[in-house]
Amino acid sequence: MPELPEVETTRSGIAPHLIGKRVAGVVVRQPRLRWPVPEDLGETLAGRRVLDVRRRAKYLLVDFPHGTLIVHLGMSGSLRVLPADAPPGPHDHVDLVLDNGRCVRLTDPRRFGAVLWTVDRAEDHPLLAGLGPEPLAEAFSAEWLYRRARGRRVAVKAFLMDAANVAGVGNIYASEALFLAGIRPGRAAGRVGLADYRQLAAAIREVLGEAIAQGGTTLRNFTGSDGRPGYFLQMLNVYGRAGQACHVCGTPIKQKTIGQRASCYCPRCQR
Ligand SMILES: [Zn+2]
Repeated sequence: MPELPEVETTRSGIAPHLIGKRVAGVVVRQPRLRWPVPEDLGETLAGRRVLDVRRRAKYLLVDFPHGTLIVHLGMSGSLRVLPADAPPGPHDHVDLVLDNGRCVRLTDPRRFGAVLWTVDRAEDHPLLAGLGPEPLAEAFSAEWLYRRARGRRVAVKAFLMDAANVAGVGNIYASEALFLAGIRPGRAAGRVGLADYRQLAAAIREVLGEAIAQGGTTLRNFTGSDGRPGYFLQMLNVYGRAGQACHVCGTPIKQKTIGQRASCYCPRCQR
């Protein structure tokens, strides 16, 4: 599943191909994504110039003078920049065709992705309005997490994965950050002290920052036939490693279900 670093890598990959370009049209081969692709999207965007490509949590925001295209990659989506006449595959659902003969193509086998249009400020869209701070932004801090967590009995891992507390920290990065901070995923969020939240906030920045940097080096551009972001797999300490030896102490990694998600941790390194 594309997580925040993959979405950020996608953003930085497609932005230079989009910003300042004019849209010639939109090809919708399959409008039934998580929500229907607006029927009149082609009319809405034709002749309009892209002002910016931003990211909020795991949403890509393509700004036009008269509104914003909101794109979510869902469980399996990816975007590539291709010649507009490149033959589409079976899961190539939407093309944003540019006036330079290229297109940005959305491929999404499982169709949990979304392509939506808003004329309002994108941050006020119902999907985005309730999101907490960006984990790599100034507004995100140990103090913020600590204050939000007071009195909360929810497991700290589920607390981190709740986008109202911090935007876009998925299972992989929550698991890895908790390992680096030495905190067990099942601990009640309200029982984690400020010093531990300091470790945790720093660890979240570290794992996301490293993953973004890695995506940026393994993926030079988004114009190849296989423009899939790298998934940060070699560096994992706990995620997906149940039963394997902890890289630090050798203890077998344990797995437990928290908030319906598999949660891996080292019973010795994490307290
Ligand atoms: Zn360990």
